[in-house]
Order: sequence, then C-alpha cells, then structure tokens
Amino acid sequence: MTSATMLPEVRFDERDQCYKADDALDVGELVSSMHVPLSATYQLTRECNLACAYCSEPPGIKTSTLEMHKMKIDKLAGMRRIILSGGEPMDYPHFWEVLEYVQGKFELIVLSTNATRIEADEAARLRELVHYVDVTVDGPRYQHQRIRGSYDAVIEGLMWLKLNKIPLSVICVYMPAEEMDPTNLLKRPRPTNRDVMHYIAQQGDMLGAVKVKILTPIPKGRSAGFFDEFATGPEIENLAEFLAAEKKKNGWKSRIVISDWMKIGQGHAWLIEPDGRVIASPVWDEPECYKPFGNLTTQTAAELWDAYPYKTEHLAKYLERTLIVR
Ligand code: SF4
Repeated sequence: MTSATMLPEVRFDERDQCYKADDALDVGELVSSMHVPLSATYQLTRECNLACAYCSEPPGIKTSTLEMHKMKIDKLAGMRRIILSGGEPMDYPHFWEVLEYVQGKFELIVLSTNATRIEADEAARLRELVHYVDVTVDGPRYQHQRIRGSYDAVIEGLMWLKLNKIPLSVICVYMPAEEMDPTNLLKRPRPTNRDVMHYIAQQGDMLGAVKVKILTPIPKGRSAGFFDEFATGPEIENLAEFLAAEKKKNGWKSRIVISDWMKIGQGHAWLIEPDGRVIASPVWDEPECYKPFGNLTTQTAAELWDAYPYKTEHLAKYLERTLIVR
C-alpha cells in the first residue's frame, strides 16, 4: 500500500494546512482501515543549539547513523506525513542527506525547527524540499529571550522563510497564569498571557503564516515542574474568544489553532526518538508524560501501529476534530 492509498477519504488542505475528511465520516471507522499512522514526528537528534526553559525533548538520547535513519525511514512507507524534528534537526550532521532521502516517500514533508540555522541559502534549499515549516516564538523579545534566547536569529530565520514563500506555522506555548516558583526563569515581571498571544497572532499575520498554533505546556522533559494543572476549560475558551475578536478587528489572516489537551486526550502523537524508540505523547497518566510502545529499529511500522493504544486520539487530532480553531 502506498502513501496515496491509505485513507483516501482524508485529504490535505494546503490553504488550511491540515488534514480533512467529511464530517459525516466516523473517526473510529477511518482508524479501522489504517495500518500505519497518518503522521509521525521523527527526531533526527536530541542535540540542540538552544536550551529552552520548558523543552520537552532535551538532549540525552544518542542518535543513529545516517544508514540507520534511512533504514527506519524506509519502514514508515505508507505513512502520509513525516515531521522532521529534534532537538534541532538542522544540527544533525547529515540533515540535508536525510531531507533529500525522504523526497517522494511521503505525501508531506514538514520541518520543525528553531529557525536559527536558516539563512538565505538554507531557505532557498528548503523551498524545494519541504511542504511547510513549524517554528516556535515565545512572545515579544523579553519573554522569548527568557525562555528560549536567540530572538534575533529566530526572527531572521522566519524572515528568510517568508521571503522564500515557504508555508509556515508559527507556534507559541501558552504559559499557565498561576504564580510560579520564584526561582523559575519565567517569574514575573512578564507580559500577560493575552499580551503574548496577541503578539504571536500579529507576528504570524506579518510573516504570512498559514497557522498560528497555540499549545498549552505538558509536564514532560524540562517542563515537568512548571505547573500543577493543565490550562484548560474556560481559561482556554476565553482565550479563543479573545483571539477570534482580535482577529476580526485586526484583519489577521492566519488560522488560529489552540490545543487544549483535555479535549485532545492522551497519546495522539507518535514520536520516533533518535535511537528508534517510539513513544506516544503526551500521556499524563505516566510518570514522564509519555508511553513507549516499541522500537522502529527492530519492529515494522505496522507492528507498532497494532501496539499503539491511542489510534482514535491520533486521527481525531490530525483531522482537527479535537482542536479549537478560530
Ligand atoms: S524546545 Fe526545541 S529549540 Fe528549544 S531546546 Fe528544545 S529542541 Fe531546542
């Protein structure tokens, strides 16, 4: 079975940058015809040139050789979308070879990067090799610097992507509103959450982003001790209504997509770690907020799909049925 034939009822909408299926189609029935995931996040390396305060995927896992990565990628045949990620994927020494290697193997090739490695030449190459790019900005300069650093390099990378007309998603993590540990990097003073989200929506519009994706944090990696409870319910609904009103008032064009984990449910994402271990994430019932369910080095993707406990959450999320969209 090829990538074009799995889930023929599901199509990728370039304008909205998401998978879609007729609303009348039941997710459970669609799942029953799948033999591999629709989409997976493939971590080339966990090394990164930044050290973000809340990083959920910090260093500490050894990566694979180029040949091992190629072998694992071949095993994902039939999957529709691969998201090359990390760590910082562009820091993997054979990044460009891998990017060339995945050409034609998947319907969509996506790069999730911090953008600091993107200048004119890289953007020109990426234009030919990726369908879109995901980049996180943590807010205006002060907020971003405290969380992530390298604000100017990130913005410059984003500008190169815009100049090269590469479709873009701008991502921001919505930090919880409650008071935090005073030793925490994110302690006040800082802009209010709404100020930051407003800024990100404006930046997304200025950069021509197809999507502005707002994520709430998960207790994983360095974020594990950042908050006691998920941001969910009325707090997130109110944020969505605020941004919808601001979008109308300001004429922003980007779609605003908000993830409320309590709506999405656990384990929607396949993360393929650099050594081949495959985990479902986020799984907050587990101590480290993820659930390992196999290894792509030793198993087939179909075997892993069989063992994967969150199939419905996976497809519902990628069809945006469990997301808040404005
Ligand atoms: S969040 Fe991304 S950019 Fe930041 S340290 Fe982690 S992998 Fe690197």
